[in-house]
Amino acid sequence: KGDVHDIGKNIVTVVLQCNNYEVVNMGVMVPCHEILAMAKAEGADIVGLSGLITPSLEEMQYVAGEMEKDAHFREKQIPLLIGGATCSRVHTAVKIAPHYSGPVVYVPDASRSVGVAQGLLSDQAAQYIAELNADYDKVRTQHANKKQVPLWPLAKARANKTPIAWNAFEPKKPRFIGKRVFKNFDLNEIVKYIDWAPFFQTWDLAGPFPEILKDEVVGEEARRVFSDGKRMLQRLIEGRWLSASAVVGLYPANSVNDDDIELYTDESRSEVALTWHGLRQQTERFEVDGVMRPSRCLADFVAPKGVANDYVGVFAVTAGLGVEKKEKQFIDDHDDYSAIMLKALADRMAEGLAECMHHRVRTDLWGYAADEALSNEELIKEKYQGIRPAPGYPACPDHSVKRPMFDLLQCEDIGMALTESLAMTPAASVSGFYLSHPESTYFNVGKIGDDQVADLAQRSAVAEKELQRWLAPNL
Ligand code: SAH
Repeated sequence: KGDVHDIGKNIVTVVLQCNNYEVVNMGVMVPCHEILAMAKAEGADIVGLSGLITPSLEEMQYVAGEMEKDAHFREKQIPLLIGGATCSRVHTAVKIAPHYSGPVVYVPDASRSVGVAQGLLSDQAAQYIAELNADYDKVRTQHANKKQVPLWPLAKARANKTPIAWNAFEPKKPRFIGKRVFKNFDLNEIVKYIDWAPFFQTWDLAGPFPEILKDEVVGEEARRVFSDGKRMLQRLIEGRWLSASAVVGLYPANSVNDDDIELYTDESRSEVALTWHGLRQQTERFEVDGVMRPSRCLADFVAPKGVANDYVGVFAVTAGLGVEKKEKQFIDDHDDYSAIMLKALADRMAEGLAECMHHRVRTDLWGYAADEALSNEELIKEKYQGIRPAPGYPACPDHSVKRPMFDLLQCEDIGMALTESLAMTPAASVSGFYLSHPESTYFNVGKIGDDQVADLAQRSAVAEKELQRWLAPNL
């Protein structure tokens, strides 16, 4: 419910079907009661859930709890499989399994689903489940005994912010203030910016690119999906199977209250167009080689109000327009492989477009790095000045800024929207901010304290309870 990614679910479906399991794939955005009703109607032996974004973690706990309440699942001890990129064995054991008395199993990737299903449904299932429970008990004990890294009070963390010499920095004024829309972006241009490495992860093939193509174990399969992928990419472009669009906004901006970034409608900086509340690292810090490690927050990289007139960018790009229609043709032809390949390519194109737009922003639209001359590999390694942090990622794990972001950019103009869990539609989409300071860098906010939640509740006028829900993985 609320999550839109289904490549993993589709691969699991195919893998299990190839091993003679009957699979009812309910797709994406499915509410709990529909899943449980379908499982009953079909007499399912196993229920599986998967999600990509962090709000899905909470939904999985909810489904586990609802299965416990329902005699059908509880008495039959119907197993629950958990998958998806944000989840883990520890999360499954600690946060999800305690809600349900039946077996709850984390499946790290699609290829493992067959082994797990066999274990759960075999004659030796009782032993398999006993071993599983013992393993998860151990994980829970280890987790409970793990020494918690101490947290600093928020005020102390703020006093240790990233040291930036603002008097030595002259913010570059962008060539325009406001937003620009780029519809039906040239697909051939995007292809040049594609990073192929994550393409192989989509297919559960592990290894760096391009070395993976020569890998002893997975090389043959890697070469196969790569050549199939490139061939389909050519047809996709010639047949215009999808269209890609982008919107970029560049605004006067400053940091305020230490941790927040304000974007203003114009250079007078009197009207706030968007406030982005930042989260600050609170885990204890030490000196490394005589240098204190800072307690970072993204607001550290934007000039404080009154100190200098800084700027920040916002962007949203999609390469998913038209994908569903083409996908349906493949599904109707019973061609699951092509349907999955198409979506894997659309994801690559969306990331490629994000890279391409960022490049244009740095060298032209904003122009703070007009002389930049980097190869495609250097772009993929993010060797350029500045970052494009994306809400939901470790430096800014809170997804909720996407609502005001999407409003400001009027993303519906390019066919993009948000689900109730703040997942982006179409699935092949990317959005985020542009920060220009040479010292700006990605980091992981990690665990934060109740004092920060209370402070954020005040700054953002969002109830602490609601913040606790959105920030659960960081608490
Ligand atoms: N070339 C990759 C790019 C995606 S991953 C691909 O084709 O898939 C890198 C992107 O994730 C960054 O550009 C940034 O937008 C986001 N990101 C990575 N680490 C982050 C962090 N710690 N905080 C916020 N955003 C992050």
